[in-house]
Amino acid sequence: MSRLAAVLLLVLGPLVALGAPPPAAAAPAVSRFVLGSKVLGHSVDGRRIMAYHLGDPRVRRVSVIIGQMHGDEPAGPRLVAAILAAPHPLAGVNLWVVPTMNPDGAAAHTRQNAHGVDLNRNFPYRWAALSGQYYSGPRAGSEPETRAVWAWLRLLRPHWIVSLHQPLDGVDTTDGGATDPAFRDRLAHDLGLPEKAFRCWSTCHGNMTGWYTARGWGAAITVEFGAAPSPRWVTGTARIGVLRALGGHYR
Ligand SMILES: [Zn+2]
Repeated sequence: MSRLAAVLLLVLGPLVALGAPPPAAAAPAVSRFVLGSKVLGHSVDGRRIMAYHLGDPRVRRVSVIIGQMHGDEPAGPRLVAAILAAPHPLAGVNLWVVPTMNPDGAAAHTRQNAHGVDLNRNFPYRWAALSGQYYSGPRAGSEPETRAVWAWLRLLRPHWIVSLHQPLDGVDTTDGGATDPAFRDRLAHDLGLPEKAFRCWSTCHGNMTGWYTARGWGAAITVEFGAAPSPRWVTGTARIGVLRALGGHYR
């Protein structure tokens, strides 16, 4: 290495380090029954968006649980963490789980991503320019988190997607809840939640469940827990209930 290069490295090294992405969120505790994992993409601030595979890969219908889109809704990631850590083999379901598709929002405890975009208004389905807390971004699919999840889902084509949210307390009867009422009824029954039409206070624009269901690839449904469900209910009753609605059980 030339003397000049050595000096440049000495001077620029720390600057490069400052510009590095933030450390990834601590890897979740994963039991030996988790089959594998996949990096779906990276957030605005460079955090990894992870998916994990569990259950029985021979089951033909693939299911997906999206633990979190909005960083200020902690119940879904808690439920997914309990699935990943469960010390029992999971049968009857071919399952992928995404702890959070908004790791920057989770780190900052904000609904939106690091660009201030509500990811559940950023999908390419009835997209509209929205502002404020539902800011939908400069265009459909503008955000790396949205693109990572949509690219993955359009290849995987799950039969069922459960998208976990708070705090509206119910199982959605629109989108996948309308196209697959039996699935919706199982979720409502197994979770003990009422069935409600979540219409985003008029029409949903750019939402994930609307986008996926409209493609005809499967039923994507929103499940809203309450504002502050007990951690015990989330990791126990709710975890078992969601898995049962997808056909899963522990052996
Ligand atoms: Zn939400």
